[in-house]
Amino acid sequence: MKFGTKAIHAGVHPDPTTGAIMTPIYQTSTYVQASPGKHKGYEYSRTQNPTRDALQNNLAALENGKYGLCFSSGMGAIDAILKLFKPGDEIISTNDLYGGSYRIFTKIYQNFGIKFHFINMDDIQSIETYINSQTKLIWLETPTNPLLNIIDIAGAAKIAKNHQVLVAVDNTFASPYLQNPLDLGADIVMHSVTKYLAGHSDVVMGALIVNDDDLHSRLAFIQNASGAVSGPQDAFLVLRGIKTLHLRMQRHCENGRAIAEFLVSHPKVSKVYWPGLESHNNYAIAKSQMRDFGGMLSFTLKGDNMEDATRVMESFKVFSLAESLGGVESLCTHPATMTHASIPKEVREKAGLKDTLIRLSIGVEDAEDLIDDLKQAIG
Ligand SMILES: *Cc1c(COP(=O)(O)O)cnc(C)c1O
Repeated sequence: MKFGTKAIHAGVHPDPTTGAIMTPIYQTSTYVQASPGKHKGYEYSRTQNPTRDALQNNLAALENGKYGLCFSSGMGAIDAILKLFKPGDEIISTNDLYGGSYRIFTKIYQNFGIKFHFINMDDIQSIETYINSQTKLIWLETPTNPLLNIIDIAGAAKIAKNHQVLVAVDNTFASPYLQNPLDLGADIVMHSVTKYLAGHSDVVMGALIVNDDDLHSRLAFIQNASGAVSGPQDAFLVLRGIKTLHLRMQRHCENGRAIAEFLVSHPKVSKVYWPGLESHNNYAIAKSQMRDFGGMLSFTLKGDNMEDATRVMESFKVFSLAESLGGVESLCTHPATMTHASIPKEVREKAGLKDTLIRLSIGVEDAEDLIDDLKQAIG
């Protein structure tokens, strides 16, 4: 099945009792048993819920994986991955990543004795020098948040296989429409479902997708034992949102290109971060592992001063200044004070994240209106 057909049909079956084409919201905590232990596969909704099952199967299909697991947030999904490890284990991570990921790594799991190495992964071979007998996981985010760096997933997976290390990819920025890390050799795909998958800025949810039976049972055990599960109402909203994922992503990509090209030629803009530009330092890898380049981009202004950047962010009429991304409406974010404030300034700057960087999540409005808004805001 092709992507758009899977988005609409995979994992979803008409309701067995009524034929309802939309998966019902099974708003129940428990399920009646005929006699002790004799049930229909459902005992308690932390463990199994039919609405969540439909979404988990749909997400697995979109990522060409065997199993999906949903969590109460993207951070809940990352937390479940980290619970696979124990004190003394080491994790190698990209140094440009979502602020919340950096925070859970350094402020929570580092206290439990897990060691993290944050490195620049522009040259994927550099991972090798950080691998030792304690290394258990390589954590990739690509494209990265907020600098839109591109990391070679297949290259990382090849190195990891040689050392029997797992590879997890935060695929939030790309969505399964643009990139499928499992096909490139990754072991775990992670999504903040909150973003493109849900797509309408009305749900917070996370997901993991895997192929390996043993890895799935270990993560499903953690999902149930730790209990950060998503609710049936949210699963319904995401199933509804995913039915148009391919249509939305197509427009996000078209608008992303139009705005990247507009900004590149603007006399007041100094740098545009978007992987679809041939000037992007990893354009070749982006082109080989992604089907298109998405609707996330960042930029800086000439002169590089905070007053100019602030004025632009305050002047938008169509873009809204808000955290998050991937919804139908265009958003503007100031990473240094918003999404990435949990990363210390000196660590941010070492990774190339300036305080004056402006990040845009390009929505699915008409590109002309978005460009007009940028024109008047930049001035
Ligand atoms: C938002 C985000 C997360 C965290 O997901 P939540 O659903 O907000 O918990 C993780 N990674 C990336 C790249 C994100 O953008």
